[in-house]
Amino acid sequence: MLTEEILKDALHYGKAFTKLGKTAQYIPQLKEVNKYYLGVCAMDLDGMVLEAGDTRVPFTIQSISKLVSLILAIRDCGADHLFHEKVGVEPTGDPFNSIVKLETRTRPFNPFINAGAITVASCIKGKDADEKFGRFLEFTRKLCDNDAIELNHPVYESERATGDRNRALAYYLKASGILEGDVEECLDFYFRMCSVDVTAHDIAHMSLVLANHGADPEDQEELIEPQYAKAIRALMLTCGMYDGSGEFAMTVGFPAKSGVGGGIAVPLVDRMGIGVFGPALDEKGNSAGGIKILEYLSNKMDISLF
Ligand code: GLN
Repeated sequence: MLTEEILKDALHYGKAFTKLGKTAQYIPQLKEVNKYYLGVCAMDLDGMVLEAGDTRVPFTIQSISKLVSLILAIRDCGADHLFHEKVGVEPTGDPFNSIVKLETRTRPFNPFINAGAITVASCIKGKDADEKFGRFLEFTRKLCDNDAIELNHPVYESERATGDRNRALAYYLKASGILEGDVEECLDFYFRMCSVDVTAHDIAHMSLVLANHGADPEDQEELIEPQYAKAIRALMLTCGMYDGSGEFAMTVGFPAKSGVGGGIAVPLVDRMGIGVFGPALDEKGNSAGGIKILEYLSNKMDISLF
């Protein structure tokens, strides 16, 4: 059984690795974050909440937002259309912001790489970026059980000012007929969804919903259809840590989704949701200390799926 002592030991173990990583250097606002922050929060289905370290420090959700947008796009466009016409479900082995495969294979490989996530963002309904973002924010608050979640304006401005690589991906996708609608509006929504402030506590709750087959753990309201919660957990396992997903499966062994803000969301089906925050990233863009916390917990509690 997980105890606060085990969580504290895991935090202590992970701390040693924060100095080896770097905050995201390509987004000016993220570069400035204190790289020694580290926190882990675990929630189980019986209402137990355990926390160690910096679990209430806000950080931008970044690519963990791709879970939320994927659920909305499945609802809006249907899973068949989305996964047959727009994005695949296979890992790439390339960095998250890579453009290299777009020329040989028009559809992005999966919804978690940036090309895939920008495509998914274009499938969300709403008359403009404001309406789309309003729906995204409302759903994120629900998944995290926190009505105070808001956009981080300086990070949004910073991403918008420097997001030329994402612009290149989006215009390429438009030229290939994959991305429909207005490119700049789609990007504006994408930059905003990545720039929402959350905490490790929030992310643990979101993970718990996925671990609970898509149902709100408090009142069992269905927030995600169970079959899609299952599909998303599978995608998290194969693609959630980008080109580090294989190694993560070997050393840790459960579904996870990272973001360059330093967060990692981990749903352990029928057991618990874990949220980690550590902004010092490894060379793949995943939280260096966060991965070590999860590795410690996986070994200590023998909870690898494998
Ligand atoms: N906003 C980031 C980007 O588009 C998200 C990437 C990530 O978290 N891996 O580059």
